[in-house]
Amino acid sequence: MTIEVLAPEVVSKIAAGEVVERPASVVKELIENSLDAGATRIAVDIRGGGVRLIRVADNGSGMSAVDAAVAFRRHATSKIHSVSDLDSISSLGFRGEALPSIAAVARVEVLTRTADEIAGTFLRLENGSPVESGEKACPRGTSVTVSDLFQNVPARLKFLKSPGTESGHISNLVVHYSMAFPEVRFSLSIDGRVTLQAPGSGELRDVLVEVYGVKAAEAMIPVGDADSTIRGFVSPPFISRSSRAYLSFFVNRRFVNSRILSRAAIDAYKGLLMVGKYPIVVLNVTVPHHDIDVNVHPSKMEVKFRDDQGVFTAVQRAVRAALVEETAVPRISRHPRPVEGPAIPGVHKPMSREDAQSAGTMQTGLFRGSAAVGSPDAGAATARSESTSRLPILRVLGQLAATYIIAEGPDGLYLIDQHAAHERVLFEKVRRQRAGMVVEVQGMLDPLTLEVTPRQERIIEASGDMLSSYGFDLEPFGQRVYRLRAVPSVLGEGEIMRAVAEILDCLSEERDAEGREDKIAATIACHSAVRAGQVLNAEEISKLVNDLERSASPQTCPHGRPTMIRFTSSQLEREFGRSL
Ligand code: ADP
Ligand code: MG
Repeated sequence: MTIEVLAPEVVSKIAAGEVVERPASVVKELIENSLDAGATRIAVDIRGGGVRLIRVADNGSGMSAVDAAVAFRRHATSKIHSVSDLDSISSLGFRGEALPSIAAVARVEVLTRTADEIAGTFLRLENGSPVESGEKACPRGTSVTVSDLFQNVPARLKFLKSPGTESGHISNLVVHYSMAFPEVRFSLSIDGRVTLQAPGSGELRDVLVEVYGVKAAEAMIPVGDADSTIRGFVSPPFISRSSRAYLSFFVNRRFVNSRILSRAAIDAYKGLLMVGKYPIVVLNVTVPHHDIDVNVHPSKMEVKFRDDQGVFTAVQRAVRAALVEETAVPRISRHPRPVEGPAIPGVHKPMSREDAQSAGTMQTGLFRGSAAVGSPDAGAATARSESTSRLPILRVLGQLAATYIIAEGPDGLYLIDQHAAHERVLFEKVRRQRAGMVVEVQGMLDPLTLEVTPRQERIIEASGDMLSSYGFDLEPFGQRVYRLRAVPSVLGEGEIMRAVAEILDCLSEERDAEGREDKIAATIACHSAVRAGQVLNAEEISKLVNDLERSASPQTCPHGRPTMIRFTSSQLEREFGRSL
């Protein structure tokens, strides 16, 4: 064995590999440099998946002739000066590695001019060294052109995917930067075709229109305000996606991959989205610089928080609060809705019937019998300002079209979808009973027999315990035949077979345990709930509304659809011309 010190060009290529993994990494570094230079306009052009050409042009500060030459030396940076600066990094770059790394694995041309120079500087590098330099007229700012990426590193070239895939990575990246910096006019052109044009208005929602389309963008719910440390937009429960690809997080405006943040956001949607569905989330988290370490990976895509749990809780709460506020009873409105005070879930105590009574409210229920109903300006109003997630106490007025329940609340008229509302109530009941291992079952006097496919048989064998935890007692009864000896007692009689079939499907499809459990509970609830078209008597209506008032998320059914809509009092006044 002979030990040799590697030649400098080998060392620089190895080092370059850490920063420049694929064409998108080049784009990332160049965009970050442009942002650090204060650019308000950044144009990205790529050809051949970024392998043939990447050009990032900005209108930022530019570099002087001297700086431009130094910028390509390893560890040359204008952004930090000493070790102590590492603790308070506010720029996106700081390692001084990007430009030399890129130059080590591609041909690079730079054209740059500062505000107080008349002529611009032109610089061309090959294999990391300048081969041409001079003056050239150009607008203020910097344009870096990178061509023939990895031509001198065949091993890297081999690992690249198709130009289409590499372009996709780049596009994804530019999209994320335009969301993190809505004040910057980003544009992306792929092989001569403009594919993204961010407006640069400073409004994130305007960027979302460009990225996710007008409809989704308009429906997105704002999280936080100008002073919040957690800010952005999240989709309402009725909009969802089938993958996590629509979760975008930024920490101090740096795009990051973070499991903690993803988990926190997804957790906030618990009970609001169907299994296997994910929200669209665009959030920036502002964290004091000393509470994070961005220096854990050369491409800086990962971030370490000092207090993972604190960050998790804060994000989960912020998203949940936004959702609760917004999904609080959709209002029929042709006018912009007034902004209400923040609701902080988990902190308030929902207003109970007893509270309402002790608050001295009157008993005016039509159907309620013993139930007290909040008078418009007493207890129930408090309940609303305390929390928009829980329902105030409602006074039932009747049933409409055997499908909706009409009720009056402290602020307006409520139309409740009886099936959706009942689904919500039963869903929570099923989950509660199972969690407490107190599932109510009904024995079948005349057991139903169930013929199953070989696949279903395997599922029953593997998931017998799971099924019995929900109250299904299945007993083998010959070749691929089972007898249902007991079912959950909430389950409607005519619906048993269909519910069982759906649950077996769900057990075969869903991998993630929590999602599977929610889906089973939702299936049982759906097949147990009253249907549209079913006439209910006063007592049944009253019980349903009562149960809904007590549920944790009364505004949506387990599938995320609204259970009710509300016409506010002021809206009614407006509609009848009673207020000006
Ligand atoms: P870092 O960004 O970590 O400082 P880079 O190698 O990416 O290292 O860049 C080196 C230096 O070159 C930067 O510190 C900055 O001063 C200068 N520079 C790079 N790109 C630009 C740009 N687009 N506009 C102005 N200055 C730039
Ligand atoms: Mg940089």
